Amino acid sequence: MTTTELPLLVLGRGTDSRSEPGVDCPGSLPAASDPDLVARARAAKEALGDRVFVLGHHYQRDEVIEFADVTGDSFKLARDAAGRPDAEYVVFCGVHFMAESADILTGPDQAVILPDLAAGCSMADMAGLAQVEDAWDALEDVGIASSVVPVTYMNSSADIKAFCGKHGGAVCTSSNAQVALEWAYAQKKDAKVLFLPDQHLGRNTAVRELGMSLDDCVVWNPHKPNGGLTPGQLRDARMILWKGHCSVHGRFTAQCVDDVRERVPGVQVLVHPECTHEVVTKADLVGSTEFIIKTVEAAPPGSSWAIGTELNLVQRLANAHPEQHITFLDKTVCYCSTMNRIDLPHFVWAMENLVAGHVVNRIEVDPETERWAKVALQRMLDLPARTAGKD
Ligand code: SF4
Repeated sequence: MTTTELPLLVLGRGTDSRSEPGVDCPGSLPAASDPDLVARARAAKEALGDRVFVLGHHYQRDEVIEFADVTGDSFKLARDAAGRPDAEYVVFCGVHFMAESADILTGPDQAVILPDLAAGCSMADMAGLAQVEDAWDALEDVGIASSVVPVTYMNSSADIKAFCGKHGGAVCTSSNAQVALEWAYAQKKDAKVLFLPDQHLGRNTAVRELGMSLDDCVVWNPHKPNGGLTPGQLRDARMILWKGHCSVHGRFTAQCVDDVRERVPGVQVLVHPECTHEVVTKADLVGSTEFIIKTVEAAPPGSSWAIGTELNLVQRLANAHPEQHITFLDKTVCYCSTMNRIDLPHFVWAMENLVAGHVVNRIEVDPETERWAKVALQRMLDLPARTAGKD
C-alpha cells in the first residue's frame, strides 16, 4: 500500500482506494473501477423514466453530466426543478446549498437527492447562521441595523437565505447582483448592504457596477470581535462585506492574468465575479458561468480565451469549441473538490436505490426556514431583468 492510499481507505468503505465515499452510503457503493458503471447508470435512468429528473451543475464531472437532463448554474437548475412538478425524484448533481434551493422551489411530494452528502460548498460554510445573527446584534448595538438590507448570494445555506428574508433582504446570483444591490439601496434612506457570504462578488458589483469606491466597502470578519471593525467604520460604510470567498475562484491571481497575456498573444481574459477585485480589474470580460458559456459560443473561430472559472467547465468548453483557443487561467489544476465528490459511483448508488424504492440522501429544508428563504428568493425573482449584454 502506498502512503497516498491510506487516507482514502480510512474515509471510505471496502477496499477500492479510487472510490472515496466521503460520508456513509447505506448499502453498497459501487467501486470506481467497476467497468459496468455507465451501463448501470443508463439502466437505472431508463428504469425510472419520467419519475426522475437529473440536474447537472456546470462544474460537475463529464461522467456525471452525461446523465443530466439539464445543465446550468445553481439558480437555473433550481428553476428547472420547479418546472418539473411531475418528477417524483430530483437528483441534484451539484452541492448541498443547491439541493436545498431545489427543495425549497419544488413541491412537498418531490424528493430532492444529493448523491454524496459530503458535497458541500466551502464558501457557503463560511457564513453560519449563529455568526450572522451575532453580526446583526453588533449592528444593532452600533445603531445601524435598521438601515441595513442583507443580501445573500445564491451560494449560501437555506438558513442564511431565510435570515435575509426575515430581515427585509433578498437573494442574488452572479447574473443579477447589480439589480439586487440597486433594489437593496432603494429600500431605505441611506441604506447599507450586508453582503453574504462572498466578499468578492459583493465588492466587484459595488465598485464595477454601482460606481462605489473601495473605501465604501468594509469586510466583516466573523472570527474577530465586532467583525474587526470600529463603530465608526461601520457607520461610514455603504457595503459591509462578509469575509467569505470561493476557494476555487480565489486561486486566480493578477499574476495569472499577466502570465497568460505574455504566453498567449491576443488572448482575452474572461473571469467569474467570484474572483478577487484585482483579477477582475485586469480581465477583459467578467460574468457568470452562463455568461462565460454564451461569450465563448458567440465568439468567432480563432479567438483566444483564458478562462478563470472551475476547470471542468473550462475543459468542456475547450472540447466543444476546437475552433477556438481556450486555456485555463491558472497553470495548475483548479477543480472544485466538493463538486467533484459527485462521481459515477455515487450517482449509480443513488439511482439504483431509487429503482429499488429507497430514497437515499434526501435534502429537506424545514418548513419555517423554507417559508422565509422563499420570501428572499421571491424578492429576487421580482427584480427587473438585467440589462442585455452584461454579465
Ligand atoms: S466553485 Fe466555489 S462557490 Fe462553487 S461550490 Fe465550489 S467552493 Fe462553492
